[in-house]
Amino acid sequence: MRKPLIAGNWKMNKTPNEAVAFAAQFIQYVEDCEDVGIILAPPAPALTAMAVALKGTNIKLAAQNVHWKESGAYTGEISTGMLAEIGCSYVIIGHSERRQYFGETNETVNKRLNAVLNESMSPILCVGELLEHRKSDRTDAVIEEQVRGGLEGIKPEEMKNIVVAYEPVWAIGTGETATPGQAQQVHAFIRRLIKDIYDSSIAEEIRIQYGGSVKPSNTAELMAQPDVDGALVGGASLDPESFAGIVRYNKMN
Ligand code: PEP
Repeated sequence: MRKPLIAGNWKMNKTPNEAVAFAAQFIQYVEDCEDVGIILAPPAPALTAMAVALKGTNIKLAAQNVHWKESGAYTGEISTGMLAEIGCSYVIIGHSERRQYFGETNETVNKRLNAVLNESMSPILCVGELLEHRKSDRTDAVIEEQVRGGLEGIKPEEMKNIVVAYEPVWAIGTGETATPGQAQQVHAFIRRLIKDIYDSSIAEEIRIQYGGSVKPSNTAELMAQPDVDGALVGGASLDPESFAGIVRYNKMN
């Protein structure tokens, strides 16, 4: 049984003080949730304050990006050692906004993913097709390239620490969610790919999150799909009540 994993990606939103104020409220809404893993990914300047605010709770901390080098002359970059020392358990890797605006490639995604694993944190590997890929029937090909490229050289025993997030780019921040059927189709494809690259037990174990305009009202139907194991949530994770509504998707009725 795969334990669902729901992560909030705040992108470039919330100052450290705003993040801590969110945490004070949100912790109370979800403190009894044991059947779902919960992750918050604030912007880097809020990580330290959030590590303190979330200490002893059922909420894990994630960073939104990391560099693959341990240290050195890389102005503006952050290393995995720094994130681990703060108390991060997860790092989002290869988000479509990083691929689109910051030149992220499958090769750099793979380097970051390796660096995160080497520091005993868990990468959340984001993959997803553009609208033009979907319209021209290239979704599977693009996803395959991103999954194979991101996982290049990753050993079978490392796979238990990896989470994949399927985020169709046309559904991110647009209000247009993939239908549960569309999500399931790609999630099942990703699981088959993992089986092909590794084996069926690794494929059965890996958690695949869906991301793209997830909100409290559509979470349950997405999560009801057999290969959807969680959600990576942007906009709807910025409000404590809204994000708690997503985390508590199976307690809403
Ligand atoms: C995201 O940024 O990963 C995301 C899915 O954003 P949103 O939920 O706002 O579409």
